[in-house]
Amino acid sequence: MFESSFISGSRRLDVDERYVKELDELIDLCRLNLVSVDEEMIRRAFRLGFWAHKDDIRNSGEPYIAHPLAVARIYVEQIGFDDVGVAAALLHDVVEDTELSIEFIRDSFGDTLALIIDGLTKISGAFESRDITQAENVRKLMLSMASDIRVIFVKFADRLHNMRTLDSMPLHKRHRIANETIALFAPLAHRFGFFAIKSEYEDLSLKYLHPEEYEQITVGLQDGRKERELYINKVIDPLENKLRDHGFEFEIYGRSKNLYSIFQKMKRQGKPLDEVYDVFAIRIVLNSQESKGKEDCWRVYSVVTDLFKPLPERFRDFISVPKSNGYQSLHTTVVGPDGRKVEIQIRTREMHDIAEKGVAAHWKYKESVEDADTEMERFLTWVRDLLENPEPEKATDFVKDFSLNLYDKEIYVFSPRGDLMTLPRGATPVDFAFMVHTEVGYHCIGAKVNGKMVPLSYELGSGDQVEVITSKKQSPSADWIKFVVTQKARSRVRQAINERRRKAEETGREIWEKRAERKKLSLSKQELAHLAKRLKFPSIEQMFYEIGSGLFDVSEALKLAVLHSQGEHEEGSEDRLKLHFEQFVDSAQESGSPALLIDGEVQTDLVTSYASCCNPIPGDEVFGFLSRAGAVKIHRVGCKNAPNLILNQADRIIAVDWSRQKDIRFVSGLRVMGEDRVGMLNDVTTVISKNLKTNIRSLTISTDDGVFEGTIILLVSDLDHLRRLIERIKRIEGVHGVYRFEQQYEDDVQL
Ligand code: MN
Repeated sequence: MFESSFISGSRRLDVDERYVKELDELIDLCRLNLVSVDEEMIRRAFRLGFWAHKDDIRNSGEPYIAHPLAVARIYVEQIGFDDVGVAAALLHDVVEDTELSIEFIRDSFGDTLALIIDGLTKISGAFESRDITQAENVRKLMLSMASDIRVIFVKFADRLHNMRTLDSMPLHKRHRIANETIALFAPLAHRFGFFAIKSEYEDLSLKYLHPEEYEQITVGLQDGRKERELYINKVIDPLENKLRDHGFEFEIYGRSKNLYSIFQKMKRQGKPLDEVYDVFAIRIVLNSQESKGKEDCWRVYSVVTDLFKPLPERFRDFISVPKSNGYQSLHTTVVGPDGRKVEIQIRTREMHDIAEKGVAAHWKYKESVEDADTEMERFLTWVRDLLENPEPEKATDFVKDFSLNLYDKEIYVFSPRGDLMTLPRGATPVDFAFMVHTEVGYHCIGAKVNGKMVPLSYELGSGDQVEVITSKKQSPSADWIKFVVTQKARSRVRQAINERRRKAEETGREIWEKRAERKKLSLSKQELAHLAKRLKFPSIEQMFYEIGSGLFDVSEALKLAVLHSQGEHEEGSEDRLKLHFEQFVDSAQESGSPALLIDGEVQTDLVTSYASCCNPIPGDEVFGFLSRAGAVKIHRVGCKNAPNLILNQADRIIAVDWSRQKDIRFVSGLRVMGEDRVGMLNDVTTVISKNLKTNIRSLTISTDDGVFEGTIILLVSDLDHLRRLIERIKRIEGVHGVYRFEQQYEDDVQL
């Protein structure tokens, strides 16, 4: 199909002048930012990319090559890892989008580049399709990183350019991409220390996910700019003069804050922009010699605090103890003119590059290729460690743990030998033990912090010296899950518990079978499931587990099974309620189902139904699960069955969304708790039926010791309707809580 001749240049390519110029600029940037540049390789990669994409047009209407060129430029400017990555950026979409094969790339450019492009092709498939399998995407992403770290580096650049040009995407895709960026790419970029990329991800996501707030913040900042600049200069001017007198070479500037962090602060504190954005921030970047960098930072600190009074409790020394992503800087907050607080960061140029570009910036400063390889190996070890999960744990937990660990602030603790370890804030001796070694974690029975015995759930603080006490007999307890915070400890504890749980389940099954045999009982799987349900177990497995671990007496199950086999029935009110609930779901379905959007397309000919485990209503985030018969069942994203379905049957999950269609009512349930006062029931029903013209389908109440509890099943049109209803009911005098009712077993063991 292709001859390799085009690479040597004998095949003529009509490359637009504009792109020739951009390529030349790219190569100049490479020389500026990279240790070594194989210009020939980059030019060849460009020519191949141009050739392969020559008939493709981007959504924006531009020739496609503009995209890989822009991605390569971001890679050089913001990541600056190496020239192979630049070539990979230029070719990142060719295998995915054109006829070109990976073999062709291998033949033309060698194994390394082919491996990177292959990794990029594999993950791009995952991201193009569906939002709901995000947990799977993380896994794929991590796996691809484990082969070559440049896969994720190019993907970072690719995603950034896609975010910058998101306007040309259809609306439903914008939201999906922006959500994915904020949930996945921003924390990952942060973990690698690509702070500038992370900030831009966040700000751009904000623009698409919360356009109103984005507008409000940008306009607000614009309005106050003049006044802010005047004030900042009152601090900068004297500082600048003093520092020059001391002979420093430096750059000093007012630092603008990340829009997204302002947005979060406003949301968290429920305050308007001007109250949140009250701290001024200044940065001093020193052009010191490497050997004198640290000393110079401290001298500058001394000059700063001679001029302005520091607030000692706000001082941080990240130079002596860098953050785990390599970040170094001195932070101080001083009292500026008029008593206003000013944050000042002091760092060298090298520290600054690392803060903006992550550890990849080391390239610029370390001359030798071996150093580069060690750094890469360190990254890969980290990634592999995250992946080290011999047992498939719940994928959603994986994402949660993962992003949790990334965003948490860090603490620094010491081992008895004085080794320094970095842990997320909230870490306990158990987290510490697993960090030291998996075996230490498994067997830890107690801990001493600064010489004193503490409980295993004790929250460690920076500077603590931690000593773990182990016992061969100890093994992880389910309680630990409640307080450990590191991904490693969580996954190991979960593994150990699952293992024990499986064994208990096995034992329970054996006990049951033996006892049932003696009673000459033989239950089919269906009958067993029914029995478990009658006993309020969510599953047969749970029943066996509780029998096996002695939590539940097998005799009770036997008694009920014998009764049942004699044809006697007695149903609890809870059972009846559930029965009603399911019936209503069925009847609501019959009244006509609204069209759903699958991948943004309206579907009218699909058979759909709504899962009774989570009762989705329009406005809920939902996904579809394709049955073997070809029907689609709609679940809420937060459904308790979702992790299982996503993890084990990801290929049957489809992304769906509600289309706008009125006049269909959905079943939903509310639980109302409050004081048992005269007229309560009447007030609740009045609010529901009069105010919002909602139909009540059934209502059960119980009163106990002055407490009113009502379970109401009603028909609503969408989530908004339900929310308004909840708000109204909450306002009734004496109502303490209104919850959306789901068919869930409250004593469900959370593992
Ligand atoms: Mn791309």
